[in-house]
Amino acid sequence: MGKLFGLLGYKISHSMSPIMHNDAFKVEQLPHHYQLFDVDPEKLKDAVCGIKALNIAGFNITIPHKVAIMEYLDEIDETAQMIGAVNTVVNDNGKLIGYNTDSDGYLTSLLEVTGDRLKNMDVLVIGAGGASRAIVYSLAKYGVKSLVIANRTIEKAETIAQDCKHFMQIKTSTMKESEANLVNFDLIINTTSIGMSPNIDESPIEINELKENAVVSDIIYNPLKTKLLQDAEAKGATILNGVGMFVGQGALAFEKWTGIKPDRKRMEQIVLQQLGG
Ligand code: NAP
Repeated sequence: MGKLFGLLGYKISHSMSPIMHNDAFKVEQLPHHYQLFDVDPEKLKDAVCGIKALNIAGFNITIPHKVAIMEYLDEIDETAQMIGAVNTVVNDNGKLIGYNTDSDGYLTSLLEVTGDRLKNMDVLVIGAGGASRAIVYSLAKYGVKSLVIANRTIEKAETIAQDCKHFMQIKTSTMKESEANLVNFDLIINTTSIGMSPNIDESPIEINELKENAVVSDIIYNPLKTKLLQDAEAKGATILNGVGMFVGQGALAFEKWTGIKPDRKRMEQIVLQQLGG
């Protein structure tokens, strides 16, 4: 029998998740369907009750519900608890279990570019919001050579560093300090929303000099090549956009719901088609 899945968010009409997941269901010959659920923050609790009552099999959660949803779930896995946000829920016979697939989704896409080199990299993460938490957690757990978080609001960077201190010691810095020291990093990751459409002429940092063989990653996927990535490419860096993270988190969610590893390359093509890339 076909099962219903979906995305819980607010003002999410442009989401690419339905097209990506519905295509994957078709490819795997599963009679399931994925749809958007636009939920006002005030109605989140009611929405979760509705999900249980209607026996919706699983769902993703996006802005602004990733943290707020946690109090309405029956169980939260250790990674999601550490990150403090849930983006995927499995309905296990009426028990709603929360996971965070953003962190491993990003790591998978990053490893495709860096390979084992990642373990020896000095890493700068710009931003200290929800996505940064997931990414810093995955990098600290994986183990990189060193990790610095730079953020406009430095206290938020310090909180993430503190929360991950059992994995490794993480330093924090201001945006200006990190900008002046870019040449010391093998990997620079932008997790802020600076540079996202329509503000495509903005960049979180100005790139003057980069280390040889540096990798610069931006988790924004609209545009596919942000100003930061354009500037980094012009300085000879290898670049990685946010499509891999988006596909990575979706593929891991799909696997949790169905037990099947979907064709990630095909998912990526579907997303790129939507983005006109
Ligand atoms: P968030 O929790 O709101 O965090 C936003 C971050 O951006 C904070 O560090 C914030 O700094 C910083 N920031 C925003 N505007 C700024 C400005 N004008 N100057 C300096 N810093 C600024 O958001 P999020 O959920 O982490 O998402 C961040 C970005 O990642 C968004 O563009 C989102 O679309 C993207 N994202 C992509 C994926 C993917 O699958 N590729 C997944 C998740 C998110 P303060 O702390 O100082 O406010």
